[in-house]
Amino acid sequence: MQTDPWGEVDADPRRGSDASDAGVKLVATSKRPCNLKGGEVRRVSQNRNNLLIGYHVCCRRCGFVVLAINGHEGLAVTEGTEPDDITFSQPLRCTYCRVLMHVSHGQLRLEEDAHVRSVRYR
Ligand SMILES: [Zn+2]
Repeated sequence: MQTDPWGEVDADPRRGSDASDAGVKLVATSKRPCNLKGGEVRRVSQNRNNLLIGYHVCCRRCGFVVLAINGHEGLAVTEGTEPDDITFSQPLRCTYCRVLMHVSHGQLRLEEDAHVRSVRYR
C-alpha cells in the first residue's frame, strides 16, 4: 500500500496522504460517473432543485463507482447546505471490493470487514 493509486491526491490540500482511519473529505463533482476518482461523489440528479435520487460514490479503496440510492434498502441520504455536505444513514458497501463506506457530513471513512475482497477495479 505504498503507492498512491490516485495520482492527484497530493495536489489537493484538503486530503491527507493517508486517509485510512481518520476519514477523507469527499469531493462533489459534476464529472461523468465513469470519470470519477476515489473519494469523489456526484449527485443524481445534478440540479439540487430537483429530486434527490442518490449519489455516485467512487470507492476510495478500489476505484469502483457505486450508486447510493436514497431510500433504497434503508439508506437515507441527508444533504447539508454545502454541495459536499452529505450524510448516509448507513454505510454503503462497495459493489466491487465490498468495503464499507461510512459517509458523514462529507467525510468518508472506510471499514474493512470479513467480506472485503483484495481487488482493485482500476
Ligand atoms: Zn471498492
